Amino acid sequence: MDSCTDKEEKPAKFVWVNGPIIVGAGPSGLAASACLSEHGVPSVILERSNCIASLWQQKTYDRLKLHLPKQFCVLPLLGFPEHFPKYPTKDQFISYLESYAAHFSIQPRFNQSVQSAEFDSSCGFWKVRTQDLEYISRWFIVATGENAEPVIPEIAGIGRFHGPIVHTSAYKSGSDFAGQRVLVVGCGNSGMEVSLDLSRHGAVPHMVVRNTVHVLPREMFGFSTFGIVMELLKWFPLRLVDKLLLLVANLTIGNTGQLGIHRPKTGPIELKNFTGKTPVLDVGALSQIKSGKIKVMEGVKEITRNGAKFMNGQEKQFDSIVLATGYKSNVPTWLKGSDFFTKDGMPKTPFPNGWKGQNGLYTVGFTRRGLLGTASDAIKLAKDIADQWRTDQDCRTYSNIVLVKNCTKK
Ligand SMILES: Cc1cc2nc3c(=O)[nH]c(=O)nc-3n(C[C@H](O)[C@H](O)[C@H](O)COP(=O)(O)OP(=O)(O)OC[C@H]3O[C@@H](n4cnc5c(N)ncnc54)[C@H](O)[C@@H]3O)c2cc1C
Repeated sequence: MDSCTDKEEKPAKFVWVNGPIIVGAGPSGLAASACLSEHGVPSVILERSNCIASLWQQKTYDRLKLHLPKQFCVLPLLGFPEHFPKYPTKDQFISYLESYAAHFSIQPRFNQSVQSAEFDSSCGFWKVRTQDLEYISRWFIVATGENAEPVIPEIAGIGRFHGPIVHTSAYKSGSDFAGQRVLVVGCGNSGMEVSLDLSRHGAVPHMVVRNTVHVLPREMFGFSTFGIVMELLKWFPLRLVDKLLLLVANLTIGNTGQLGIHRPKTGPIELKNFTGKTPVLDVGALSQIKSGKIKVMEGVKEITRNGAKFMNGQEKQFDSIVLATGYKSNVPTWLKGSDFFTKDGMPKTPFPNGWKGQNGLYTVGFTRRGLLGTASDAIKLAKDIADQWRTDQDCRTYSNIVLVKNCTKK
C-alpha cells in the first residue's frame, strides 16, 4: 500500500477508507450509506458536485413532482413526513433527502469527481481516483445513477440554429419562453411535462414524437396506475396485466394514435422490464394536445437556421429548441478493468441480481425501477457487506479514514 502505482501526474495522495467507498450522493448513495450504518459499517461517499441529490437540486425543472406516489419513492429506514402530499414536489423531495442525510449523519466528500476506479488484484483493493486524491478500499459501490449525463442527439443542421438550444437538465420554467414557438425534441415524461409547462406559460410547444410510446393515465379509478400494476403483477402474468392496462387506458384517455402518439406493439410493463423504456404517466399534457395547445410533430429531418424541416415535408419556424432526449449512465467512462457493466453503463445482469459484482464491487440504483429499485439494492448490498465486515476482524481495527499520506511517484 505504500508504493504508488500511478503513472500520471495526479493524484499526489492516498486515502485509505475503512469501509466501502460509494460514488454518488444521490438518493442511491445516501440509501446505501444509511443501510450500511444501520449495520455498523462506515462508508465514504464521493460526490462530484457540491451538494447531495445534485440531479434533483440542479438539473430538474421547477414544476417537477415525483412521478410516482410517495410510498414507491421512499428510501429505506426513514419515511416521508406524514404531511407530504401523495406526489411530493421536487423541493419536498430534496428536503426529505436532506433530513435523511442529517438523520444518518451522512457527510459526503463534495467536489470529488471520480475519474477512474479499478480493482488492483495484486493487493485486493479498489483504487478510486478523483481529481486530487486516490481512495483505497476493499469495497466499491457505484451509485452514479442511470441519469448521470444528458443525451445530446446528433440532428442534422443543429449547429445552424439561430436561437437557444437547451437540454431539459438546464430547463427551469416555461416563463423563460413566454410567447415563443418552441421545438421540444422527445416525448417521454420530460418532453410531455416540459411541453405542458411551456403551454401553461404562454409558449407554443411543438413536441417531436419520433418513436412509438405508451401514454398511461397517472391514476385509474382514483388509484395510482403504478400501484395498480404492482398489485396486479402479484396475481396475474405480465402480459395479461399489460392488456388490462391498455384496455383501461384506451377507455379513459382514448386512442393516443389519433393524436399522433402511436403505441409500441409490446405492452408498457413488458417494454419497461426488457428495454427500460418508461411509459409516460400523463399529468395533463394529453388534454393540451387534444385542444391543440401542444402540437405533435413527426420526426425532424433537419434543423434550419430559423426552425426545422420535418419528415412529412413541413417546415416551421422556432425561437428555441428544448432537447428532452434523456440521460445516460457515465460508468463506462471511468470504471476500468471490469466487464460487469454494458457499454451503456448498466449492469449486464438484470434486476433483481445486478447489485453485486466481483471483488467487492456493488451497484445501487441501476435497476430501471426508480427509487423502489434503489431501496432493494441498498438493503441487499448493506447486508452482504456487513456479513463480510463482521467476519473480518481486521476491518474494524482502523477508524473510518486512517491514512492520508503523500505518494512518491515511480
Ligand atoms: C425528471 C426526473 C424525474 C424523476 N422522477 C422519479 C420519480 O418520481 N420516482 C422515481 O422512483 N424515480 C424518478 N426519477 C428517476 C431518478 O433519477 C431516480 O429515481 C433517482 O434520482 C436516482 O437516484 P440515484 O442516486 O441512483 O442517481 P442520481 O440522483 O442521478 O445521483 C447520482 C449522483 O452521482 C453523482 N455522480 C455521477 N458521476 C459521478 C462521478 N464520476 N464522480 C462522483 N459523483 C458522480 C451525481 O453528481 C449525482 O449526484 C426521475 C428522474 C428524472 C430525471
